[in-house]
Amino acid sequence: MRENELLVVTESVRIAGELGVLIKHQRRPGDILCVVRGPVQSEATRYSFSIGRRRHIEPTSSPSQPDFGRYINHFCDPTAFVRIAQDAHGAPCVEVVARMDLQAGAEVTFDYASLEYEGTVSEMKCQCGTAACRGMIQGFKDLPAALVARYRGGRHDRAVPIENARRLRHR
Ligand SMILES: [Zn+2]
Repeated sequence: MRENELLVVTESVRIAGELGVLIKHQRRPGDILCVVRGPVQSEATRYSFSIGRRRHIEPTSSPSQPDFGRYINHFCDPTAFVRIAQDAHGAPCVEVVARMDLQAGAEVTFDYASLEYEGTVSEMKCQCGTAACRGMIQGFKDLPAALVARYRGGRHDRAVPIENARRLRHR
């Protein structure tokens, strides 16, 4: 079982047959739920987190934190957002941050398209079941204009890497 004091990997609350990351204690908006760390690679994988053009963090585990990043599911209306940060050693990492009040047992989810310019699990049907579900898991480049504006507009759930935003402007 992958877990620490705050999180546990277990059955997803919404997606049948899939694992997900659940919180063990109540959390507040802005709380960091987990930090995704790992080597930066030039190619995206199914589990990687984009931090820029041809820069993708592949989640690995550390003694203090299992590789929860591998198990965080996509929801179109997620419980968390992600932001690119640096750890104490200056290495890039991705912080997964609560965007609402969350009760114990809530699943940690984020919108993959807020971070990934191209969908890394392209054309996969979304099973999030939220009212805002877009039907498919896609990339930032596929988002409707209103969501692009929201993710680029400086709101607290903005997550688009600068490099990706620049690419978007050049389209
Ligand atoms: Zn969905």
